[in-house]
Amino acid sequence: MSILVVGSVAFDALQTPFGKVDKCIGGSATYFSVAASFFSEVDLVAVVGDDFTDEHLSVFQGRRINLDGLQRVPGEKTFFWSGEYGFDLNVAKTRDTQLNVFASFKPELKESHRAPDVLFLANIQPELQMQVLEQCKRPRLVALDTMNLWINVAKEALTRIISKVDLVVINEAEVRQFTEEANLVKGARQILALGPKTLVVKRGEYGVMMITPDAVFVAPAYPLENVFDPTGAGDTFAGGLLGYLASRSEITDRELRRGIVFGSVLASFTVEKFSLDRLREITLRDVQERYADFKALTHFEDAGD
Ligand code: AMP
Repeated sequence: MSILVVGSVAFDALQTPFGKVDKCIGGSATYFSVAASFFSEVDLVAVVGDDFTDEHLSVFQGRRINLDGLQRVPGEKTFFWSGEYGFDLNVAKTRDTQLNVFASFKPELKESHRAPDVLFLANIQPELQMQVLEQCKRPRLVALDTMNLWINVAKEALTRIISKVDLVVINEAEVRQFTEEANLVKGARQILALGPKTLVVKRGEYGVMMITPDAVFVAPAYPLENVFDPTGAGDTFAGGLLGYLASRSEITDRELRRGIVFGSVLASFTVEKFSLDRLREITLRDVQERYADFKALTHFEDAGD
């Protein structure tokens, strides 16, 4: 089963209360692809400048990630994001966003990319997300992520694309910002009313809430003692969730719940180090072990009498 992702491949500058890095590999599609490749083949569609060298590309090597759709544009610079966190690691403060090579990017999907099984529109301009969706034969599942910037500057385009997808992955604060509704469950229902069948709300260290027309499922975040840098947690989560779903023959409530836990497990590794450093060290076995811990962590018995 194949999964196609479009999103950012980036350089990030990060500051957390525990450390600082001036330039490291980041990007929504980068974290997503590496996480999803634990479960499925991934086709990555994105653009970088010629400052993104072969050495940087090694982040994708040795994994089931096809880079045919990754363009490198001579004379241009790679997307750059600078972010900062205080002791509340759930809130990222953007210091700078430079679209660079993404400012003039017009995604042209190759013929071989036009019929993905699962399509993930990772965080990027909503207009680009729409251009990619329009070029695809309807996939089995289309999912999208976004961020506060696009709610601020491109809300109409974002509303249009949300109405065309099956599943939305979004932060708690973004649900409130997008819907202007304080109550999360009511806000989630407003987004579902636009068209998606499933909403997955990321709540940082408090975990995840999934809302569908018929069910609500909540999962905690893995209780880590050392959270170093939360950057990429959301994209890694989405990669684990969608990568897992793409590997299953049916997408049921049961599989969605498993996918949410796999996503949470992968995200819990990402936040242990800067950039993709921790994600690059682990194996599927580490993921499966932490999945089992997760089950133990959340298990409780029937009430009895
Ligand atoms: P998250 O998983 O939400 O922490 O996303 C972190 C990644 O998103 C960083 O590595 C950034 O490079 C990337 N990013 C930040 N702002 C944007 C944006 N406006 N569009 C696309 N990607 C972004």
